[in-house]
Amino acid sequence: MKKTSLPKDPSSPVSVDRLEYFESHLDSLLKSICEFVAIESPSDSKPATDRMGTHLAQKFAELGGRPHLHRAEEYGDNLQIDFPGPSNAKPVLVLGHFDTVYPLGTLPTMPCRIDNGRLYGPGVLDMKAGVALMLFALEALQTWHRELPRPVTVFLVSDEEVGSCSCRKITEDLARKSAAVLVLEPAAGLRGAVKTARKGVGEYTLSVRGIAAHAGLDPGKGHSAILELARQIAVISRLSDLKSGISVNPGVIRGGTRTNVVAAEAVAEIDVRIKSAKQAASLHRKLLALKPFDKHCKLTIEGGINRLPMERTTGVASLYKKAKAIAKQINWKLDEAAVGGGSDGNFTAGIGIPTLDGLGAVGEGAHAIHEHILISELPRRAFLLAGLIESA
Ligand SMILES: [Zn+2]
Repeated sequence: MKKTSLPKDPSSPVSVDRLEYFESHLDSLLKSICEFVAIESPSDSKPATDRMGTHLAQKFAELGGRPHLHRAEEYGDNLQIDFPGPSNAKPVLVLGHFDTVYPLGTLPTMPCRIDNGRLYGPGVLDMKAGVALMLFALEALQTWHRELPRPVTVFLVSDEEVGSCSCRKITEDLARKSAAVLVLEPAAGLRGAVKTARKGVGEYTLSVRGIAAHAGLDPGKGHSAILELARQIAVISRLSDLKSGISVNPGVIRGGTRTNVVAAEAVAEIDVRIKSAKQAASLHRKLLALKPFDKHCKLTIEGGINRLPMERTTGVASLYKKAKAIAKQINWKLDEAAVGGGSDGNFTAGIGIPTLDGLGAVGEGAHAIHEHILISELPRRAFLLAGLIESA
């Protein structure tokens, strides 16, 4: 790639040159994004995600990073890449995932294609473009400074879309050693806001055991698990408090065997979202305290909060302030947003490490057939990321 030499001072007017650098290298970024999209990597296929992980390890190694694969049994191996920098500086953790929600064989019906300034493809927004942006920004920093201005740890996980079970502890350990965490999940909305707050997410399963009976011969002898579950769902739904940011959604129910049998079993799967750790604890308590209306029915509730909320702590707010100042150098008014979905940023913010999320691509349709990114937004996303790696 073409090497451009630039002065070291990150302030304007150098900023304009930096943006130009990213604009003039846009084609090579698009090429990387398409290359990553073309390697299908659904979370539930270990061979596929491992293929993606190995490919990325090589890409980052070509830039001088030291890749290390953390072996995982059920899901793909998680990929850590360390880039050296001045030893007195604390590293920054650049966080992302390379799994997608799309099953193998999606590409023929949803190929990587450019149309009207948008790049389409499975996982392009969430978040293969984000991974490519990492490489792009690191390469630029190396070009400008010859070596990175600080140590950088990149951590790319393989099972984010299914709850990050295999990587959570590693993510938290790496975050503890870092000055800040930059998460390359998609930006919020088409204005490209970064995410300074995310709701926490939990999942629960409520199982009801009733007593079966013949619906015609012995209706009085049965105790319907379905009826009990229906009454419980009414109670559970009232735990939602949208104004305070709490939502409880029994999204899946199952139960019964035949119409002429009083149902012995029924199950509800419940998604919960909360805005604070306090709400999480209180909601958890309330769900575990559910009592049956029908004394002959038995309730079992399993599950818990998977990701605590990413709260807008002072550390998060000051990181956003830095991002805003970097954006301002190129006359870009960078917005912030609070969103409902969780990410691995929830883990790192949850243990008190300043975290900024939504630094990845701008686009629409994550997890959907029309998933795409806006190509024209890419250079300034890279500009922002490079600036934050330097100064976060
Ligand atoms: Zn994602």
